[in-house]
Amino acid sequence: MVDSLLSARGLNKQFRSGNEPVPVLRGLSLDLERGQSLALTGRSGSGKSTLLNILCGLEKPDSGVVQVLGETFDARSTEAESKSERRWGTLRRQQIGVVFQEANLMPALSLLDNVRFRARLAGQSEDGCQDWLERLGIGELADRYPDQVSGGQRQRAALAMVFAMKPALILADEPTGSLDRHTAEAVIGQLFELQARHGCGLILATHDPELAARCSQHLDLGHVPQT
Ligand code: ADP
Ligand code: MG
Repeated sequence: MVDSLLSARGLNKQFRSGNEPVPVLRGLSLDLERGQSLALTGRSGSGKSTLLNILCGLEKPDSGVVQVLGETFDARSTEAESKSERRWGTLRRQQIGVVFQEANLMPALSLLDNVRFRARLAGQSEDGCQDWLERLGIGELADRYPDQVSGGQRQRAALAMVFAMKPALILADEPTGSLDRHTAEAVIGQLFELQARHGCGLILATHDPELAARCSQHLDLGHVPQT
């Protein structure tokens, strides 16, 4: 467990719909090593986004433990909680890159400044940021604002932001769900190529079986609670 990039044990999470509890994750465990990729599948509502949000610390599990790079986040711990949460917050900013279905760029910043901002937040140099845009094929768009480029170009900028932070782990929540098939394939190709070259871990939530097949591991969250 200590050497693994990410380890989750016994994650439980439920939401409420009116007075009814809606269990989403029930005792879920998973492990990921550096360089490995894991596809999360399962129909809409099966808990893919909930799991990714827990893994990146945006959401708390009701119980269970998440460990990233040896740093433990335990939902049960109350003692020293704020200290642990501060360390977890730093780790999250520096080591976990997240890509959502719609690129979450800051509209008031150019593409290049978006990448620089993310690199700086992760404690990385801004020097290589233009290079990341070049590598993703959008170098000439560096000075454009997010609303002046296409959805596929925004998603490439979002990947540039994630790689510029040199993360250990990338979490991608249906990152090409809003793109046409051709653009989606190009963006995914770049995501896998860079992930393999830089040896980071990748967890990818997707509806696409072909995409899931490209990952080294597969976790189906399809056993959803009945409503
Ligand atoms: P997926 O990403 O696989 O489509 P989600 O993780 O978004 O699934 O949602 C799993 C279940 O949890 C769904 O039934 C959804 O309605 C419910 N859910 C998610 N977030 C909340 C929330 N903040 N409050 C209440 N219910 C939620
Ligand atoms: Mg989702």
